[in-house]
Amino acid sequence: MQVLLVEDDPSIASSLSDSLVGAGFSVVHVATGQEAIDADLGDVVLLDLGLPDMDGYDVCRAIRTVSNVPIIVITARGEELDRVLGLELGADDYVVKPFGFRELVARIRAVTRRAHAAAAVAGPANDDRDDRDDSDDIVIVGPLRIDRRTHRVTLEVAGVAGELALTPKEFELLSFLADDPGAVRTRTDIVEHVWDANWFGPTKTVDAHVAGIRRKLGDAGWIEAVRGVGFRLEVPSIGTE
Ligand code: CA
Repeated sequence: MQVLLVEDDPSIASSLSDSLVGAGFSVVHVATGQEAIDADLGDVVLLDLGLPDMDGYDVCRAIRTVSNVPIIVITARGEELDRVLGLELGADDYVVKPFGFRELVARIRAVTRRAHAAAAVAGPANDDRDDRDDSDDIVIVGPLRIDRRTHRVTLEVAGVAGELALTPKEFELLSFLADDPGAVRTRTDIVEHVWDANWFGPTKTVDAHVAGIRRKLGDAGWIEAVRGVGFRLEVPSIGTE
């Protein structure tokens, strides 16, 4: 597994590289945002937010426009707002300095496992799965079609089906809501299902992802916030029926 390490502090970079190599990863290290954008992204990106040439958030956004590679943000900024922004920009997880190496490896394994599971079901290597019944894999909610096997989401607008470019987390969240359209999912259920049961981040993260999905669906009415409870998915009343 190849890690792209984006870290400008030479002592942190070299000790982290050594530890990662010792744990069996291959590591490509760059020290600036521009180098990160130009580099081979590998299987997972570890991105320090405090870089000399660019803001880490801009690097995150730039990577996200070309790739769904898992991104783990490494930050010394512990403020909640920064954390939310990091995730809203498409990072999959974050660690706050100082962090334990074991914690970091656990997070790398978690995000890459999820990404590989998504890629595996989308790839041709899984043609043997074609025998199975597809009905559980495809959820249709009005003009919205979610295919869990291929991780594709399409939305029909004016008779034309367009594919939505969702991040892995956005896909999981939308897919979870679509399991039971109209039913309210609590924030806790969403966090446990889409992130991890041991997630300790702010629940505002859910709002950030909901906002991202609404934007991509082009109508905020798709996901209704139920005050004090959570969210539900439903077909917007205007323009689709
Ligand atoms: Ca730094």
